[in-house]
Amino acid sequence: MGRCAPPLITEADLLAARHFIDGTFVEASAGGVIGVVDPCTGNVIARIPEGTSQDIDRAAAVRAKAQWARLVLKERSELLHALADRLAEHTEPLSRLESANTGKPLAVSRDDVAMTIDTFRFMAGAVRATTSLAVGDYAENHLSLLLREPLGVIGVVTPWNYPLLMAAWKIAPILAAGNTLVLKPSEQTPLTTLKLAELVADLLPPGVMNVVNDYGAVTGARLAEHPDVNMIALTGSVAGGGAVARAAADSLKRVHLELGGKEPVVILPDADLAAAASALRVAGFWNSGQECGAACRVLVHESVAGEFIEQLVSEVRALVVGEPAAGEDVEVGPMVSKAHVDRVIGYLARAQNEGVQVATGGGAIDGPGYFVAPTVLVDVPEGAEVAREEIFGPVITVETFADEEEAVRRANDVPLGLSASVWTENARRSHDIAARLDFGTVWVNSHLVLAGEVPWGGFKGSGYGRDLSIYALDDYARTKHVMHNHGR
Ligand code: NAD
Repeated sequence: MGRCAPPLITEADLLAARHFIDGTFVEASAGGVIGVVDPCTGNVIARIPEGTSQDIDRAAAVRAKAQWARLVLKERSELLHALADRLAEHTEPLSRLESANTGKPLAVSRDDVAMTIDTFRFMAGAVRATTSLAVGDYAENHLSLLLREPLGVIGVVTPWNYPLLMAAWKIAPILAAGNTLVLKPSEQTPLTTLKLAELVADLLPPGVMNVVNDYGAVTGARLAEHPDVNMIALTGSVAGGGAVARAAADSLKRVHLELGGKEPVVILPDADLAAAASALRVAGFWNSGQECGAACRVLVHESVAGEFIEQLVSEVRALVVGEPAAGEDVEVGPMVSKAHVDRVIGYLARAQNEGVQVATGGGAIDGPGYFVAPTVLVDVPEGAEVAREEIFGPVITVETFADEEEAVRRANDVPLGLSASVWTENARRSHDIAARLDFGTVWVNSHLVLAGEVPWGGFKGSGYGRDLSIYALDDYARTKHVMHNHGR
């Protein structure tokens, strides 16, 4: 495992560790402080204010929405392109800051920043090309036209696994659709969101985008219940999503939830096993397995299970584990926090106590830092805890099945429904299985490939609402019907 590399960032990269309200960095209303930790060492690298309900109220009260909503689409679009250009000029420092805060390999951070920029560019273009029902007479002597209006102020809560990218997936469509926003980043990984605010402060009108730091329970709940906030969008855990949905219920505001996943990978007997094993090396361990769409739960036909496991284990043993600064070839970094590494190791220990076999990995790597060895668990029985709950670490479980009916039934037998994949060379079977899988995205002979034009979001316990694509733009807009009586 690679270690002892020069630091990714300097003090100068951390200047913006305050709230960002009405276009400037401001002091908090109270004195609480949260330490931000480097997961490779456990050391505190920055301190951010612990926000309060008053801080949320101050951000929600900013009067920028009328001005922003009035801009014609071309103007809003050009500002979003300018924002994308500004981020592109800072790709490398943003990538290094993301890796310093999350421990993710530099290749992952660079991919995150590239997709962040692309998300702003896509939304800048898409908002100018939206279409709707043609203006016309749909009732006798009555002319109908449909207006797409902004909702107003959107509350946003983001997770620690893709801090900048998940912020961009919200900010870009929210601003493109003419709304303003108050965003609460994860208390564990706020640094790139604050850096984004710092980088674009002179481009956006003051108050259009506000950032308040905190743990979730107080400020997240205040955002969700706030009478001046028109919608709440959260990417995070099922528990966090449930909490904001309950807090939003009294004011009946719209809720948009992108929650967890427990993604099945169904491998039929005719699949290209080498291609599947090689794809899972990436899709199972991208972002160190801290990925809501991770290919983490293999269901492989019993006739090819032995051969597939051999190939998968050989791929996983070849993964390069290390801290991000250790080199460009690092593929797997640490877990984000002490609490999270303990959680992942707890799953592995309980599985082994229950008789699940470890084909490779199986526990923590000696410190410092929160590293877990890339792991493949085999002989996983139906209904095992590791096959049902989101572990959110570098762990793939392997179960076997006897026929397709059993594969589909077991793949669907989890409370979450974010994404899945099916592996076969037979087009008819692949489509039939894809249609029967109860997940928001299904890949055929692939896993974890995303694009700005196509929607991302889950079914069942994985939430509702869509990120990316014109579906996200629609989620952050309301439709008004205006009807003119022109009869004489
Ligand atoms: P989390 O729910 O603990 O935290 C997410 C955010 O919600 C944080 O900002 C946190 O401070 C806040 N929060 C926590 N409790 C809250 C509450 N009671 N009220 C309001 N806000 C609250 O999740 P996490 O651990 O940061 O992120 C990991 C989870 O996110 C995983 O389950 C993962 O699958 C999911 N995720 C989903 C997607 C997706 O696109 N579906 C993407 C990334 C992550």
